[in-house]
Amino acid sequence: MPNIQLYKALRRELESKNVTLVAVSKTKPIEDLKELYDAGCKIFGENKVQELIAKHEQLPKDIQWHMIGHLQRNKVKYITPFIYLIHSIDSFKLLKEVNKEAIKSNREIPCLLQIHIAQEETKFGFSLEEVQEMILSTEYKVLNNIKIAGVMGMATNTDNMDQVRKEFKTLHHIFNSLKINFDDSFKEISMGMSGDYLVAIEEGSTMVRIGSSLFGKRNYT
Ligand SMILES: *Cc1c(COP(=O)(O)O)cnc(C)c1O
Repeated sequence: MPNIQLYKALRRELESKNVTLVAVSKTKPIEDLKELYDAGCKIFGENKVQELIAKHEQLPKDIQWHMIGHLQRNKVKYITPFIYLIHSIDSFKLLKEVNKEAIKSNREIPCLLQIHIAQEETKFGFSLEEVQEMILSTEYKVLNNIKIAGVMGMATNTDNMDQVRKEFKTLHHIFNSLKINFDDSFKEISMGMSGDYLVAIEEGSTMVRIGSSLFGKRNYT
């Protein structure tokens, strides 16, 4: 069951700081999302395409759906008709696929470039150099149906907040160095989850992705 009290307090706190709250509802039943929706939440994040489309079908159409998890290219076509923001663009190939499908939906789809900032090998994402190489290429310049709206990153899963802070600082620096290549829509730094969102905001986050604090622990069995 979602914690509505906490949602409202968090939302107020974040709004005063101009930070967008993405409620991460992965693995949670539709009733939980509905309850949060009724409390005023219109921004949900999911990390699996199938779950995302099922929930999109069942819930009111004024919800902004955010894709925050690793996205396989063969599944892009299922979300391009309605997705509000893709946080997890982690390769040039994926970006090209999103553009291709966005053309079919006659949309310009906002995307964040996921940057690899964690020490863990497993986290997806670009390096700064990879992004720079991509945006200089002629192939990139013809992608007219995507809009790069900023960057996203996940810190190392650790209790060491100094390390987490360092990684968020790195993401902010990368955002700053990329900014000159884009227009005014390049403004989002998606960083911070339940355990580290306060540090993320101190380091310049504009968008936090919060799941377990709002919905309770996830059960993956
Ligand atoms: C699950 C998830 C979150 C939310 O994590 P919590 O610790 O539950 O707040 C944020 N971002 C991504 C990419 C996730 O997969």
